Amino acid sequence: MSQAPKTLFEKIVAREIPAQILHETDEVAAFADINPQAPTHLLIVPKKPIPRVGEAEASDQALLGALLLAAGDIARKLGLDARDKGFRLVINHGRDGGETVPHLHVHLLAGRELSWPPG
Ligand code: AMP
Repeated sequence: MSQAPKTLFEKIVAREIPAQILHETDEVAAFADINPQAPTHLLIVPKKPIPRVGEAEASDQALLGALLLAAGDIARKLGLDARDKGFRLVINHGRDGGETVPHLHVHLLAGRELSWPPG
């Protein structure tokens, strides 16, 4: 059976493409976005290459939870959880959502006041 080619983020997790990896568990990894949109801009990815959130399945429930728990852990470690600081999590799906990399990822943005609604 032929294997699907690795996604960009699988290559990062496999250390085949350099990135600043800040957090890793058996299920997820987090690394700095190469084109940061805020002073802190991390991507939290499942190691399993789910293409996008709308394609996750019921069997991915725990993994989806692990992504959000990792985001919370990272935010606490970085001191972003204080009420007078804060952070934003973003998941882009498809063209109109602004998705450019077809491997599910949660953006963690912080370090400046983020406007609402997003552009
Ligand atoms: P999205 O547009 O939601 O699919 O987000 C993809 C994100 O991946 C963008 O914010 C890019 O800046 C980021 N990105 C693309 N290539 C790399 C890379 N080699 N290392 C880290 N982040 C990347």
